[in-house]
Amino acid sequence: MHPFAKLDHRFVWHPFTQMRDWLKREPIVIVAGKGAVLRDVRGREYLDANASIWTNLHGHQNPKINAAIRRQLGKIAHSSALGLANEPASRLAAKLVEASNAIVGRAVPSAPVSPKRGRRGADTAPYLNKVFFSDDGSTALEVALKLAYEFSRRTGRNPRPRFLSLEGAYHGDTVGAVSLGHINLFHKTYSGLLFRSDRVMAPYCYRCPFNRAKPERADARAYRQCHWECVDLVEKKFVAQKRKADGYAGFVFEPLMQGAAGMIPQPSGWLRRVTDIARGHGALLIADEVMTGFGRTGNLSTLNPQPSTSLFACQHEEVQPDFLCLAKGLTGGYLPMAATLTTREVFDAFLGEYTEFKTFFHGHSYTANPLGAAAALASLEILHSRKSIQARQKLERVLRSELQTLWTLPQVGDIRQVGLMAGIELVRDWRTRQSFDLRERAGIRVCEAMARRGVLTRPIGNVIVLMPPYCTTPAQVRSMVHAVYDAISEVTGKATL
Ligand code: PMP
Repeated sequence: MHPFAKLDHRFVWHPFTQMRDWLKREPIVIVAGKGAVLRDVRGREYLDANASIWTNLHGHQNPKINAAIRRQLGKIAHSSALGLANEPASRLAAKLVEASNAIVGRAVPSAPVSPKRGRRGADTAPYLNKVFFSDDGSTALEVALKLAYEFSRRTGRNPRPRFLSLEGAYHGDTVGAVSLGHINLFHKTYSGLLFRSDRVMAPYCYRCPFNRAKPERADARAYRQCHWECVDLVEKKFVAQKRKADGYAGFVFEPLMQGAAGMIPQPSGWLRRVTDIARGHGALLIADEVMTGFGRTGNLSTLNPQPSTSLFACQHEEVQPDFLCLAKGLTGGYLPMAATLTTREVFDAFLGEYTEFKTFFHGHSYTANPLGAAAALASLEILHSRKSIQARQKLERVLRSELQTLWTLPQVGDIRQVGLMAGIELVRDWRTRQSFDLRERAGIRVCEAMARRGVLTRPIGNVIVLMPPYCTTPAQVRSMVHAVYDAISEVTGKATL
């Protein structure tokens, strides 16, 4: 075993990992990366097919981000945001405000027609102009949650704030974020530590009890047959809560695609409909764009006939939240940094004389880290460049066409692509949609077989995730999808159709 691997085995405890299994074999020790390629300590190369757990946008060793960090390193690596400001964080906050309000001011009809027909809801979209920095996705959600809670109480909007989130939701693993999540496997153990939040059905067209369509060899959203019963359930939930108490203070959601839930995409129009309902019932919208942010949901959205340059998923359905939580791709996948954007109205509720103690007593030592902010500024500049927009459009198209090859495998039940990410759900047989028992570790075994073919990703249960960095070439995308194909064939050991 390589000495670094030995050290790891002796001392490191890995996240979300059964360490007994981990200790059975020599781990891959990554020492370098360039573009979409990772290199290990033995000189083997791998494609980074999940963008280093959904963080990396422009590839490893991106010259522009490297240079920005070096420049900043020549000045200062870190100074505290408690009592001091710094240049890159101030500039980054301004850029994030600009990007996150891209749709505000666009004509948003306000006629309150039936939510089922897709009314446009709010007369004026909230303007996000305050940025609270933190470190990770979980902390970005934690900030939104605490702010929404206290804002609701202070303003008298809701004296006992309660939150609604989606079935299967994952919003992080700090205690507040866990309370908003609904994945038993992760969350049940800690139920004694958590506050209560409610859940409502998320659209999961492939396994939806309201979808009367028989399985087809296509994304289940495309052939679903339903009457938006999932939207009715959201409406019912809000009505019931209003009867019971003060209604929901906030509605928390991942827009367009729920990630850790199993890469579950929303059919076109769902987001618009349910956020209109939530707003209509006075709830604050808390958008978790930790995974979906920064161009991940693509430019060729089926929701808009025109290619859009929107950086955020909500913008595809012209939804403007009251809280926008960002992390992962914020720094291009370089450094841990997060941001929670909100409105002046929320900010103002925390203003007062010092002695009133209205201060938001929350923050971390590395908040607004200058190196992270410098990386994020460089990443945003790349994202806005014509070259990057075109590359993203191309990658989205190539991924879409390559993924079609997987339909020939009977163990592929659903292929769900939103922009530059996809989930491939493995089943015993596509005709029955029967799942593999989690104990069979089908997803894990497929990913292990992919690693042997030089492609790295992590499954979510029986779902294989592909989320390539934006610099991934068409040939590399092809290799990723081939590896999925061959690995599924190897693991399930069955002939193709
Ligand atoms: N929200 C979403 C949607 C996520 O996907 C994740 C992480 N997978 C988080 C929050 C938590 O982010 P982090 O792991 O950076 O704390």
